[in-house]
Amino acid sequence: MHIIATGDMLTNDLGDRLRAILGSQGLVEPNAEFERYCISFDGAFRGPAQYVARPSSTAQVSAVVTACRKAGISMVPQGGNTGLAGGAQPVDPRSVIISLERMRALRAVDPQNDTITVEAGMPLAEVQTHAVDVNRLFPLSLASEGSCQIGGNLSTNAGGTQVLRYGNMRALTLGLEVVLPDGSMWSGLRGLRKDSTGYDLKQLFIGAEGTLGIITAATLRLFPRPRDIVTAFVAVPTPVAALDLLHIARSHVGESLSAFELMRRECMKWVLVALPEAI
Ligand SMILES: Cc1cc2nc3c(=O)[nH]c(=O)nc-3n(C[C@H](O)[C@H](O)[C@H](O)COP(=O)(O)OP(=O)(O)OC[C@H]3O[C@@H](n4cnc5c(N)ncnc54)[C@H](O)[C@@H]3O)c2cc1C
Repeated sequence: MHIIATGDMLTNDLGDRLRAILGSQGLVEPNAEFERYCISFDGAFRGPAQYVARPSSTAQVSAVVTACRKAGISMVPQGGNTGLAGGAQPVDPRSVIISLERMRALRAVDPQNDTITVEAGMPLAEVQTHAVDVNRLFPLSLASEGSCQIGGNLSTNAGGTQVLRYGNMRALTLGLEVVLPDGSMWSGLRGLRKDSTGYDLKQLFIGAEGTLGIITAATLRLFPRPRDIVTAFVAVPTPVAALDLLHIARSHVGESLSAFELMRRECMKWVLVALPEAI
């Protein structure tokens, strides 16, 4: 969440340094637009900052991190700002928010190897679309997919609706590129499945909420698209009965079961109040 570094650059030099690195497009200073970065999407978390850095390349991320480290300023990486735990909001008003929103390039897609390599700021829904374009599936799916970014999904180890079959982001990731707190880059972008070399360092950064570095790109696993999807909507009397049903369904279809969600009667009542036409 927060990378805190110490150093000797004077804080008031920091703005000049960041402006020189990022140009006018890349640095947001306190103004009306600035506010949206300091508040979580639902308004539940708010945290002040002195700048929002919007790098457009890994080299710029590295230069920004180096400048902040020298100034002794804490950095808060931010993706689509849809996280539910306040991890993308600063606690120290001198912080610099580093938003990945301008780093959204598709670096490579390889349908033969079933991999896609994207920059961390690419929204999840775009990754799904790029996969469909080559007749493949990227299975992570969550209600915030139009706004959340791959870097945020990785940093929260997101699961989503199909986690039963495909696993969470730990299971969907083959390689990462990360800028470390000293500004150096760790390059672990690879699409190798049977990798038995040493420590699996990428796993340190997945689910770390940005505490160990800023993820700038990832190589992700793709899958064949299912030919048919069958959905059943079943009423169960208790959560225990839902678990029994899950067990029965798994016994019959095994790994083909991709999603299993339990909705409370109360939720359904509110959906029908909000969307009466859904009946
Ligand atoms: C409607 C809704 C439904 C959701 N459903 C699910 C669900 O089904 N399953 C689930 O797991 N989650 C779910 N979530 C929460 C989920 O964690 C986020 O939607 C998403 O994974 C966060 O991505 P983000 O880009 O918005 O990250 P942010 O909110 O911007 O950041 C989240 C954390 O990651 C860090 N971070 C962001 N980008 C980077 C980066 N490039 N490098 C390092 N650190 C970074 C931030 O500092 C912060 O700590 C849901 C959220 C909403 C609003």
